[in-house]
Amino acid sequence: MHTVVVGAGIVGLAAAWELLEAGSDVTLLDPAPIGSDASASYGNGSMISPAFMIPVSNPGLWRKVPGFLLGRDSPMSVRAVDFARLSTWAINFVLAGATEARLRGLAAALAPLTRGAPALHEAFSRAIGRPDLVQRGPLHYLYPHEEALEGDHLAWQLREHFGVEKRLVTQAELRCAVPNSPVGYKLGIVVPDSGFCNDTSGYSKAIWKQLASRGATWMQEAATGFQVENGRVVGVETSKGRLRCDSVVIAAGHASVKLAAALGDRVPLKVERGYSLQYRENPTGLDSPLMLPDKRIAITPNHLGVRVAGQVELAHPDAPPNWDHIRILHKRATEAYPELAPHLQTAERWMGRRPSMSDCKPVIGLSSGASNAIYAFGHAHIGLTTAPRTARIVVALMKGTDPEIPVRPFSPRRFRRTSAMDA
Ligand SMILES: Cc1cc2nc3c(=O)[nH]c(=O)nc-3n(C[C@H](O)[C@H](O)[C@H](O)COP(=O)(O)OP(=O)(O)OC[C@H]3O[C@@H](n4cnc5c(N)ncnc54)[C@H](O)[C@@H]3O)c2cc1C
Repeated sequence: MHTVVVGAGIVGLAAAWELLEAGSDVTLLDPAPIGSDASASYGNGSMISPAFMIPVSNPGLWRKVPGFLLGRDSPMSVRAVDFARLSTWAINFVLAGATEARLRGLAAALAPLTRGAPALHEAFSRAIGRPDLVQRGPLHYLYPHEEALEGDHLAWQLREHFGVEKRLVTQAELRCAVPNSPVGYKLGIVVPDSGFCNDTSGYSKAIWKQLASRGATWMQEAATGFQVENGRVVGVETSKGRLRCDSVVIAAGHASVKLAAALGDRVPLKVERGYSLQYRENPTGLDSPLMLPDKRIAITPNHLGVRVAGQVELAHPDAPPNWDHIRILHKRATEAYPELAPHLQTAERWMGRRPSMSDCKPVIGLSSGASNAIYAFGHAHIGLTTAPRTARIVVALMKGTDPEIPVRPFSPRRFRRTSAMDA
Protein backbone atom coordinates (compact mmCIF):
# COMPACT_ATOMS: atom_id res chain seq x y z
CA MET A 1 0.00 0.00 0.00
CA HIS A 2 1.45 3.35 -1.07
CA THR A 3 -0.15 6.59 0.13
CA VAL A 4 0.66 10.02 -1.23
CA VAL A 5 0.17 12.77 1.33
CA VAL A 6 -0.31 16.09 -0.44
CA GLY A 7 1.01 18.87 1.81
CA ALA A 8 3.66 18.64 4.51
CA GLY A 9 2.37 21.13 7.07
CA ILE A 10 1.66 19.84 10.56
CA VAL A 11 -1.54 18.07 9.45
CA GLY A 12 0.08 16.26 6.52
CA LEU A 13 3.14 15.32 8.58
CA ALA A 14 1.02 13.93 11.42
CA ALA A 15 -1.07 11.98 8.90
CA ALA A 16 2.09 10.62 7.25
CA TRP A 17 3.31 9.44 10.65
CA GLU A 18 0.10 7.59 11.48
CA LEU A 19 -0.02 6.06 8.00
CA LEU A 20 3.52 4.70 8.39
CA GLU A 21 2.56 3.33 11.80
CA ALA A 22 -0.41 1.62 10.14
CA GLY A 23 1.91 -0.07 7.63
CA SER A 24 1.58 2.10 4.53
CA ASP A 25 4.47 3.37 2.44
CA VAL A 26 4.30 7.16 2.30
CA THR A 27 5.37 9.82 -0.16
CA LEU A 28 4.91 13.46 0.86
CA LEU A 29 4.36 15.99 -1.89
CA ASP A 30 5.08 19.64 -1.09
CA PRO A 31 6.64 22.32 -3.28
CA ALA A 32 8.03 24.16 -0.22
CA PRO A 33 10.84 22.89 2.01
CA ILE A 34 9.42 21.10 5.06
CA GLY A 35 9.26 23.46 8.03
CA SER A 36 9.53 26.55 5.81
CA ASP A 37 7.65 29.79 6.36
CA ALA A 38 5.37 29.02 3.40
CA SER A 39 3.20 26.83 5.59
CA ALA A 40 0.76 27.98 8.28
CA SER A 41 2.51 25.56 10.61
CA TYR A 42 5.71 27.65 10.66
CA GLY A 43 5.16 30.67 12.91
CA ASN A 44 1.83 30.09 14.61
CA GLY A 45 0.98 30.85 18.24
CA SER A 46 2.31 27.38 19.19
CA MET A 47 -0.45 26.75 21.72
CA ILE A 48 -2.06 23.35 22.21
CA SER A 49 -5.24 23.37 24.25
CA PRO A 50 -8.61 21.63 24.59
CA ALA A 51 -10.00 25.14 25.20
CA PHE A 52 -9.74 25.79 21.44
CA MET A 53 -13.10 24.10 20.80
CA ILE A 54 -14.71 27.57 20.80
CA PRO A 55 -14.46 29.05 17.28
CA VAL A 56 -13.84 32.70 16.40
CA SER A 57 -17.44 33.10 15.20
CA ASN A 58 -19.67 33.78 18.21
CA PRO A 59 -22.96 35.54 19.02
CA GLY A 60 -21.32 38.95 19.60
CA LEU A 61 -19.05 38.96 16.55
CA TRP A 62 -21.41 40.60 14.04
CA ARG A 63 -21.76 43.62 16.32
CA LYS A 64 -17.99 44.00 16.65
CA VAL A 65 -17.06 43.56 12.97
CA PRO A 66 -17.87 47.14 11.79
CA GLY A 67 -15.71 48.60 14.59
CA PHE A 68 -12.94 46.13 13.77
CA LEU A 69 -13.02 47.07 10.09
CA LEU A 70 -13.10 50.82 10.65
CA GLY A 71 -10.85 51.04 13.68
CA ARG A 72 -7.13 51.77 13.69
CA ASP A 73 -4.95 49.13 15.35
CA SER A 74 -7.78 46.64 14.92
CA PRO A 75 -7.33 42.87 15.31
CA MET A 76 -9.23 42.29 12.03
CA SER A 77 -9.07 43.75 8.53
CA VAL A 78 -10.25 43.06 5.00
CA ARG A 79 -8.11 44.07 2.05
CA ALA A 80 -10.31 46.47 0.09
CA VAL A 81 -9.68 44.88 -3.33
CA ASP A 82 -10.72 41.48 -1.95
CA PHE A 83 -13.88 42.69 -0.23
CA ALA A 84 -16.38 41.58 -2.88
CA ARG A 85 -14.69 38.19 -3.42
CA LEU A 86 -14.78 37.42 0.31
CA SER A 87 -18.10 38.90 1.37
CA THR A 88 -20.30 35.79 1.01
CA TRP A 89 -17.77 33.63 2.81
CA ALA A 90 -17.42 36.29 5.55
CA ILE A 91 -21.17 36.59 6.07
CA ASN A 92 -21.50 32.82 6.42
CA PHE A 93 -18.53 32.79 8.78
CA VAL A 94 -20.10 35.43 11.03
CA LEU A 95 -23.44 33.59 10.92
CA ALA A 96 -21.86 30.21 11.76
CA GLY A 97 -21.68 31.00 15.48
CA ALA A 98 -24.14 33.89 15.60
CA THR A 99 -26.59 32.37 18.09
CA GLU A 100 -26.06 30.52 21.32
CA ALA A 101 -27.53 27.38 19.77
CA ARG A 102 -25.15 27.55 16.79
CA LEU A 103 -22.14 28.13 18.97
CA ARG A 104 -23.17 25.19 21.14
CA GLY A 105 -23.41 23.01 18.01
CA LEU A 106 -19.93 24.05 16.88
CA ALA A 107 -18.50 23.46 20.34
CA ALA A 108 -20.09 19.99 20.42
CA ALA A 109 -18.44 19.11 17.11
CA LEU A 110 -15.02 20.58 17.90
CA ALA A 111 -14.64 19.47 21.53
CA PRO A 112 -13.83 15.82 20.68
CA LEU A 113 -11.25 17.04 18.14
CA THR A 114 -9.38 19.19 20.66
CA ARG A 115 -9.87 16.89 23.69
CA GLY A 116 -6.65 15.25 24.87
CA ALA A 117 -4.54 17.22 22.38
CA PRO A 118 -1.69 18.04 24.82
CA ALA A 119 -1.26 14.35 25.68
CA LEU A 120 -1.35 13.35 22.01
CA HIS A 121 1.34 15.92 21.15
CA GLU A 122 3.42 14.85 24.11
CA ALA A 123 3.28 11.23 22.96
CA PHE A 124 4.00 12.28 19.37
CA SER A 125 7.04 14.38 20.32
CA ARG A 126 8.38 11.41 22.29
CA ALA A 127 7.75 9.02 19.41
CA ILE A 128 9.83 11.21 17.08
CA GLY A 129 12.60 11.41 19.68
CA ARG A 130 12.14 15.13 20.46
CA PRO A 131 10.22 15.38 23.76
CA ASP A 132 11.82 18.80 24.27
CA LEU A 133 9.68 20.28 21.50
CA VAL A 134 6.33 19.94 23.29
CA GLN A 135 5.76 21.12 26.81
CA ARG A 136 2.59 20.37 28.76
CA GLY A 137 1.34 22.90 31.28
CA PRO A 138 -1.20 25.61 31.97
CA LEU A 139 -2.68 28.11 29.55
CA HIS A 140 -3.90 31.30 31.23
CA TYR A 141 -6.57 33.53 29.72
CA LEU A 142 -6.17 36.92 31.46
CA TYR A 143 -8.70 39.73 31.79
CA PRO A 144 -8.29 43.38 32.86
CA HIS A 145 -11.48 43.33 34.95
CA GLU A 146 -14.52 41.21 35.83
CA GLU A 147 -16.74 42.70 33.09
CA ALA A 148 -14.25 41.56 30.44
CA LEU A 149 -14.35 38.03 31.83
CA GLU A 150 -18.14 38.23 31.94
CA GLY A 151 -18.06 39.04 28.20
CA ASP A 152 -16.62 35.56 27.61
CA HIS A 153 -19.16 33.90 29.90
CA LEU A 154 -20.83 31.79 27.21
CA ALA A 155 -17.50 30.47 25.90
CA TRP A 156 -16.39 29.41 29.38
CA GLN A 157 -19.78 27.89 30.13
CA LEU A 158 -19.56 25.79 26.97
CA ARG A 159 -15.99 24.75 27.68
CA GLU A 160 -17.07 23.54 31.09
CA HIS A 161 -20.11 21.80 29.65
CA PHE A 162 -17.95 19.90 27.16
CA GLY A 163 -15.47 18.78 29.79
CA VAL A 164 -12.60 21.27 29.54
CA GLU A 165 -11.00 21.47 32.97
CA LYS A 166 -10.64 25.11 34.02
CA ARG A 167 -10.26 27.20 37.16
CA LEU A 168 -10.76 30.85 38.07
CA VAL A 169 -7.57 32.70 39.01
CA THR A 170 -8.47 35.56 41.34
CA GLN A 171 -6.58 38.82 41.64
CA ALA A 172 -4.98 37.55 44.83
CA GLU A 173 -3.80 34.35 43.11
CA LEU A 174 -2.63 35.91 39.85
CA ARG A 175 0.88 36.96 40.95
CA CYS A 176 1.60 33.47 42.13
CA ALA A 177 0.01 31.76 39.12
CA VAL A 178 1.74 33.98 36.54
CA PRO A 179 4.98 35.40 37.89
CA ASN A 180 5.60 38.76 36.18
CA SER A 181 1.97 38.92 35.05
CA PRO A 182 1.32 41.55 32.38
CA VAL A 183 0.50 45.18 33.10
CA GLY A 184 -3.21 45.86 33.54
CA TYR A 185 -4.57 42.35 34.14
CA LYS A 186 -6.47 41.52 37.30
CA LEU A 187 -7.83 38.01 36.98
CA GLY A 188 -8.01 35.04 34.69
CA ILE A 189 -9.02 31.50 33.91
CA VAL A 190 -6.46 28.74 33.73
CA VAL A 191 -6.82 25.63 31.58
CA PRO A 192 -4.29 23.44 33.40
CA ASP A 193 -3.96 20.61 30.90
CA SER A 194 -2.74 22.57 27.90
CA GLY A 195 0.68 22.84 26.31
CA PHE A 196 2.81 24.52 23.71
CA CYS A 197 5.44 23.84 21.10
CA ASN A 198 8.93 25.18 21.71
CA ASP A 199 9.79 25.54 18.02
CA THR A 200 7.00 25.00 15.48
CA SER A 201 9.26 24.91 12.43
CA GLY A 202 11.66 22.62 14.29
CA TYR A 203 8.72 20.32 15.10
CA SER A 204 7.87 19.89 11.40
CA LYS A 205 11.52 19.27 10.54
CA ALA A 206 11.90 16.74 13.37
CA ILE A 207 8.80 14.83 12.29
CA TRP A 208 10.10 14.75 8.72
CA LYS A 209 13.54 13.55 9.88
CA GLN A 210 11.94 10.58 11.65
CA LEU A 211 9.62 9.88 8.72
CA ALA A 212 12.61 9.84 6.36
CA SER A 213 14.56 7.53 8.66
CA ARG A 214 11.63 5.12 8.48
CA GLY A 215 11.52 5.11 4.70
CA ALA A 216 9.08 7.89 3.82
CA THR A 217 10.03 10.05 0.85
CA TRP A 218 9.35 13.68 -0.05
CA MET A 219 8.98 15.07 -3.57
CA GLN A 220 9.42 18.83 -3.75
CA GLU A 221 6.53 19.26 -6.16
CA ALA A 222 2.99 20.61 -6.12
CA ALA A 223 0.07 18.29 -6.81
CA THR A 224 -1.89 19.64 -9.76
CA GLY A 225 -4.63 17.02 -10.15
CA PHE A 226 -5.49 13.35 -9.99
CA GLN A 227 -5.90 10.39 -12.27
CA VAL A 228 -9.09 8.63 -11.24
CA GLU A 229 -10.03 5.17 -12.52
CA ASN A 230 -13.16 3.28 -11.48
CA GLY A 231 -13.82 5.70 -8.61
CA ARG A 232 -10.30 5.46 -7.18
CA VAL A 233 -7.29 7.74 -7.42
CA VAL A 234 -4.50 5.79 -9.08
CA GLY A 235 -2.11 8.67 -9.59
CA VAL A 236 -1.36 12.21 -8.43
CA GLU A 237 -0.38 14.67 -11.17
CA THR A 238 2.62 16.91 -10.65
CA SER A 239 4.61 19.16 -12.98
CA LYS A 240 7.19 16.36 -13.14
CA GLY A 241 4.65 13.75 -14.17
CA ARG A 242 2.31 11.31 -12.48
CA LEU A 243 2.98 9.68 -9.14
CA ARG A 244 1.22 6.35 -8.82
CA CYS A 245 -0.51 5.56 -5.54
CA ASP A 246 -3.02 3.29 -3.81
CA SER A 247 -4.52 6.12 -1.78
CA VAL A 248 -4.11 9.85 -1.25
CA VAL A 249 -4.51 12.32 1.63
CA ILE A 250 -5.15 15.96 0.74
CA ALA A 251 -3.63 18.11 3.48
CA ALA A 252 -2.45 21.10 1.47
CA GLY A 253 -3.83 23.76 3.83
CA HIS A 254 -5.50 26.62 1.97
CA ALA A 255 -4.45 25.17 -1.40
CA SER A 256 -6.65 22.11 -0.76
CA VAL A 257 -9.65 23.96 -2.15
CA LYS A 258 -8.54 23.46 -5.78
CA LEU A 259 -7.52 19.84 -5.21
CA ALA A 260 -10.88 19.06 -3.60
CA ALA A 261 -12.62 20.65 -6.59
CA ALA A 262 -10.66 18.30 -8.85
CA LEU A 263 -12.21 15.43 -6.90
CA GLY A 264 -15.74 16.80 -7.15
CA ASP A 265 -16.04 18.72 -3.88
CA ARG A 266 -16.62 22.48 -3.86
CA VAL A 267 -15.77 23.67 -0.38
CA PRO A 268 -16.05 27.22 1.03
CA LEU A 269 -12.46 27.66 2.15
CA LYS A 270 -10.79 31.07 2.31
CA VAL A 271 -7.67 32.32 3.98
CA GLU A 272 -7.60 34.15 7.28
CA ARG A 273 -4.12 35.58 7.24
CA GLY A 274 -2.47 35.94 10.63
CA TYR A 275 0.81 37.39 11.85
CA SER A 276 3.42 36.65 14.47
CA LEU A 277 6.51 38.23 15.96
CA GLN A 278 9.20 35.92 17.21
CA TYR A 279 11.29 37.91 19.69
CA ARG A 280 14.84 36.54 20.07
CA GLU A 281 14.85 37.08 23.83
CA ASN A 282 12.26 36.43 26.50
CA PRO A 283 12.31 39.46 28.79
CA THR A 284 8.72 38.65 29.91
CA GLY A 285 9.95 35.89 32.20
CA LEU A 286 6.95 33.80 31.15
CA ASP A 287 7.35 30.03 31.22
CA SER A 288 3.84 29.17 30.02
CA PRO A 289 1.55 30.77 27.41
CA LEU A 290 -0.96 33.57 27.90
CA MET A 291 -4.07 34.53 25.97
CA LEU A 292 -5.05 38.18 26.29
CA PRO A 293 -8.56 38.17 24.78
CA ASP A 294 -9.06 41.94 25.09
CA LYS A 295 -5.94 42.56 22.97
CA ARG A 296 -6.58 39.45 20.86
CA ILE A 297 -3.01 38.29 21.17
CA ALA A 298 -1.38 35.04 22.21
CA ILE A 299 2.00 35.17 23.98
CA THR A 300 4.06 31.99 24.10
CA PRO A 301 7.53 31.50 25.53
CA ASN A 302 9.66 29.10 23.53
CA HIS A 303 13.21 27.91 23.00
CA LEU A 304 13.77 30.79 20.58
CA GLY A 305 12.59 33.58 22.93
CA VAL A 306 8.94 34.57 23.08
CA ARG A 307 6.33 34.66 20.31
CA VAL A 308 3.34 36.97 19.98
CA ALA A 309 0.66 35.94 17.48
CA GLY A 310 -2.73 37.12 16.36
CA GLN A 311 -4.58 39.29 13.80
CA VAL A 312 -7.09 38.25 11.19
CA GLU A 313 -6.64 39.71 7.72
CA LEU A 314 -9.03 38.64 4.99
CA ALA A 315 -7.03 38.95 1.81
CA HIS A 316 -5.90 37.00 -1.21
CA PRO A 317 -3.41 34.37 -0.04
CA ASP A 318 -0.74 35.62 -2.45
CA ALA A 319 -1.14 39.36 -1.80
CA PRO A 320 1.96 40.95 -0.26
CA PRO A 321 1.90 40.88 3.57
CA ASN A 322 0.60 44.00 5.26
CA TRP A 323 3.29 44.48 7.89
CA ASP A 324 1.18 47.08 9.67
CA HIS A 325 -0.29 44.04 11.44
CA ILE A 326 3.15 43.48 12.97
CA ARG A 327 3.16 47.05 14.27
CA ILE A 328 -0.21 46.37 15.90
CA LEU A 329 1.00 43.10 17.45
CA HIS A 330 4.12 44.79 18.83
CA LYS A 331 2.06 47.68 20.21
CA ARG A 332 -0.32 45.29 21.98
CA ALA A 333 2.53 43.14 23.26
CA THR A 334 4.45 46.09 24.69
CA GLU A 335 1.33 47.42 26.41
CA ALA A 336 1.33 44.16 28.35
CA TYR A 337 5.13 43.78 28.59
CA PRO A 338 6.94 47.14 28.08
CA GLU A 339 10.24 45.25 28.40
CA LEU A 340 9.64 43.82 24.88
CA ALA A 341 9.95 47.32 23.33
CA PRO A 342 13.70 47.27 22.51
CA HIS A 343 13.50 43.78 20.97
CA LEU A 344 11.52 44.61 17.83
CA GLN A 345 14.61 45.21 15.69
CA THR A 346 15.87 41.66 16.09
CA ALA A 347 12.46 39.95 16.06
CA GLU A 348 11.34 37.81 13.12
CA ARG A 349 8.06 38.90 11.55
CA TRP A 350 5.85 36.39 9.78
CA MET A 351 2.56 36.21 7.91
CA GLY A 352 0.72 32.87 7.76
CA ARG A 353 -2.37 31.62 5.95
CA ARG A 354 -4.96 29.93 8.12
CA PRO A 355 -7.10 27.61 5.96
CA SER A 356 -10.60 28.57 7.13
CA MET A 357 -13.98 27.10 6.35
CA SER A 358 -17.01 29.39 6.38
CA ASP A 359 -18.70 27.15 8.96
CA CYS A 360 -15.66 27.09 11.31
CA LYS A 361 -15.14 23.32 11.11
CA PRO A 362 -12.33 21.53 9.27
CA VAL A 363 -12.90 19.10 6.45
CA ILE A 364 -11.91 15.57 7.41
CA GLY A 365 -13.50 12.85 5.33
CA LEU A 366 -13.72 10.88 2.14
CA SER A 367 -13.86 12.73 -1.13
CA SER A 368 -16.96 12.47 -3.31
CA GLY A 369 -14.95 11.62 -6.40
CA ALA A 370 -12.76 8.78 -5.16
CA SER A 371 -13.20 6.21 -2.41
CA ASN A 372 -9.47 6.24 -1.55
CA ALA A 373 -8.97 10.02 -1.31
CA ILE A 374 -9.23 11.55 2.14
CA TYR A 375 -9.35 15.23 3.02
CA ALA A 376 -7.65 16.71 6.08
CA PHE A 377 -7.67 20.51 5.81
CA GLY A 378 -9.44 23.69 6.91
CA HIS A 379 -8.29 23.66 10.55
CA ALA A 380 -8.08 27.48 10.66
CA HIS A 381 -6.98 28.66 14.13
CA ILE A 382 -6.54 25.21 15.68
CA GLY A 383 -4.52 23.09 13.24
CA LEU A 384 -1.53 22.59 15.51
CA THR A 385 -3.73 21.47 18.39
CA THR A 386 -5.84 19.10 16.30
CA ALA A 387 -3.24 17.61 13.92
CA PRO A 388 -2.54 14.34 15.81
CA ARG A 389 -6.26 13.56 16.29
CA THR A 390 -6.94 14.40 12.65
CA ALA A 391 -4.18 12.01 11.63
CA ARG A 392 -5.75 9.17 13.60
CA ILE A 393 -9.10 9.85 11.96
CA VAL A 394 -7.46 9.79 8.52
CA VAL A 395 -6.04 6.32 9.18
CA ALA A 396 -9.38 4.99 10.46
CA LEU A 397 -11.13 6.29 7.33
CA MET A 398 -8.43 4.78 5.17
CA LYS A 399 -8.87 1.39 6.85
CA GLY A 400 -12.66 1.65 6.78
CA THR A 401 -12.92 1.39 10.58
CA ASP A 402 -14.87 3.67 12.92
CA PRO A 403 -12.93 6.84 13.80
CA GLU A 404 -12.49 7.42 17.53
CA ILE A 405 -14.68 10.56 17.48
CA PRO A 406 -17.80 11.50 15.47
CA VAL A 407 -16.66 12.83 12.10
CA ARG A 408 -19.95 13.61 10.42
CA PRO A 409 -19.66 17.33 11.29
CA PHE A 410 -16.43 17.42 9.27
CA SER A 411 -17.73 15.70 6.16
CA PRO A 412 -17.07 17.47 2.83
CA ARG A 413 -20.61 16.51 1.87
CA ARG A 414 -22.06 19.10 4.25
CA PHE A 415 -21.43 21.77 1.59
CA ARG A 416 -23.38 20.09 -1.17
CA ARG A 417 -26.05 22.79 -1.14
CA THR A 418 -23.53 25.62 -0.77
CA SER A 419 -23.80 28.15 -3.57
CA ALA A 420 -21.05 28.44 -6.15
CA MET A 421 -20.47 32.03 -4.92
CA ASP A 422 -19.63 30.82 -1.45
CA ALA A 423 -17.21 28.18 -2.65
C1 LIG B 1 -0.87 33.70 13.36
C2 LIG B 1 -1.36 32.28 13.56
C3 LIG B 1 -1.43 31.77 14.86
C4 LIG B 1 -1.88 30.45 15.07
N1 LIG B 1 -1.84 29.93 16.34
C5 LIG B 1 -2.21 28.64 16.55
C6 LIG B 1 -2.10 28.07 17.86
O1 LIG B 1 -1.62 28.68 18.81
N2 LIG B 1 -2.55 26.78 18.04
C7 LIG B 1 -3.08 26.05 17.01
O2 LIG B 1 -3.52 24.91 17.26
N3 LIG B 1 -3.16 26.56 15.75
C8 LIG B 1 -2.73 27.83 15.50
N4 LIG B 1 -2.80 28.36 14.24
C9 LIG B 1 -3.38 27.56 13.15
C10 LIG B 1 -2.38 26.56 12.57
O3 LIG B 1 -1.14 27.18 12.33
C11 LIG B 1 -2.93 26.00 11.25
O4 LIG B 1 -4.26 25.56 11.44
C12 LIG B 1 -2.11 24.81 10.79
O5 LIG B 1 -0.76 25.18 10.69
C13 LIG B 1 -2.62 24.29 9.45
O6 LIG B 1 -1.78 23.21 9.10
P1 LIG B 1 -1.93 22.51 7.69
O7 LIG B 1 -0.94 21.40 7.66
O8 LIG B 1 -3.35 22.21 7.41
O9 LIG B 1 -1.54 23.64 6.63
P2 LIG B 1 -0.11 24.24 6.28
O10 LIG B 1 0.78 24.27 7.46
O11 LIG B 1 -0.33 25.53 5.56
O12 LIG B 1 0.51 23.17 5.27
C14 LIG B 1 0.03 22.99 3.98
C15 LIG B 1 1.19 22.60 3.09
O13 LIG B 1 0.68 22.27 1.81
C16 LIG B 1 1.62 22.69 0.85
N5 LIG B 1 0.97 22.81 -0.44
C17 LIG B 1 0.26 23.85 -0.93
N6 LIG B 1 -0.19 23.58 -2.15
C18 LIG B 1 0.24 22.33 -2.46
C19 LIG B 1 0.09 21.48 -3.58
N7 LIG B 1 -0.62 21.86 -4.67
N8 LIG B 1 0.68 20.27 -3.56
C20 LIG B 1 1.39 19.87 -2.47
N9 LIG B 1 1.53 20.62 -1.37
C21 LIG B 1 0.98 21.84 -1.36
C22 LIG B 1 2.16 23.99 1.41
O14 LIG B 1 3.43 24.30 0.86
C23 LIG B 1 2.20 23.70 2.91
O15 LIG B 1 3.48 23.25 3.30
C24 LIG B 1 -2.34 29.67 13.98
C25 LIG B 1 -2.25 30.18 12.68
C26 LIG B 1 -1.74 31.46 12.46
C27 LIG B 1 -1.61 31.98 11.05
